Amino acid sequence: MPKANTDGEAGARPQETCAGFVALIGAPNVGKSTLVNALVGAKVTIVSPKVQTTRSLVRGIAMEGGSQIVLVDTPGIFAPKRRLDRAMVTKAWSGAHDADLVCVLIDAKRGLDDETEALLGKLADVAQPKVLVINKVDIVDKPKLLALAEQANKIGKFDATFMVAALSSYGVPDLRAYLAAHVPRGPWLYPEDQISDAPAQSLSTEITREKLFHKLHQELPYQLTVEVEQWKELRGGALRIEQTIYVERESQRKIVLGEGGQMIKYIGAAARKELSELLERDVHLFLFVKVREGWGDDPERYREMGLEFPKE
Ligand code: GDP
Ligand code: MG
Repeated sequence: MPKANTDGEAGARPQETCAGFVALIGAPNVGKSTLVNALVGAKVTIVSPKVQTTRSLVRGIAMEGGSQIVLVDTPGIFAPKRRLDRAMVTKAWSGAHDADLVCVLIDAKRGLDDETEALLGKLADVAQPKVLVINKVDIVDKPKLLALAEQANKIGKFDATFMVAALSSYGVPDLRAYLAAHVPRGPWLYPEDQISDAPAQSLSTEITREKLFHKLHQELPYQLTVEVEQWKELRGGALRIEQTIYVERESQRKIVLGEGGQMIKYIGAAARKELSELLERDVHLFLFVKVREGWGDDPERYREMGLEFPKE
């Protein structure tokens, strides 16, 4: 497997590691995704959500020195209109495990509209350290920015304020350094190789596998593999993904398909939903089930999955 970066060479790792979850919150279009890209670096990392089923989705992982910054989304956290929503938001934030740090994004151009003010107000109950990130500073005059920062800091209690333009990465290194310095000490939450070479395609098969095992764990042997047959960007940005699920026997194929195809339909829908959330675009997922005998004896299959082929 190619090594994508050299930061983690044996011996080069600092003795003290830090790692933590950083929640990014803000209204739609404020620039969360753009900021994740900028914080993470050249490639966006999408990791399997296995480790954090009860947490929000992991959007990317930024590394800085010995620190691992795991960026998570907090869907539905802003501007709750009904009482029930408010209660849920409060509860979401009261959980000590939700995040180690909270980054609150506001759109410099949009300023402090009602929705943003409501969001800032809600944050008063958040116990975690909070950082204000004013994004899109490239399209707003300085005096207005300063006024905005001041106003926002009156409503929310922020430990720090950053002015960034996520699109051009302006100000992003400072923010990254701050986050790296403020995540708690501890071992990394994700192994480094998973960060550097987790491409979206293998993530997509992992998700399908996960759904399969979740649903059928008792009935299926471990030897089952999912491969991407087609990965195509469609006009309009949607993604067409074809995957084949390989099983060893016809009886297993029947189990995966389910009665009248109900099982595969369910698996496909669940996988598609998760994938389109992670990739932030429409996904058309097509699943096929095929029998491949002697799967467990084929070294090539092991290699494809990054596994050693056991000699005996
Ligand atoms: P999200 O909905 O919060 O994830 O927002 P996105 O990251 O998708 O960004 C929404 C829009 O804002 C996109 O068109 C981005 O290109 C734009 N945007 C993000 N950051 C900046 C910035 O720093 N400056 C400017 N001018 N536009 C930005
Ligand atoms: Mg987004």
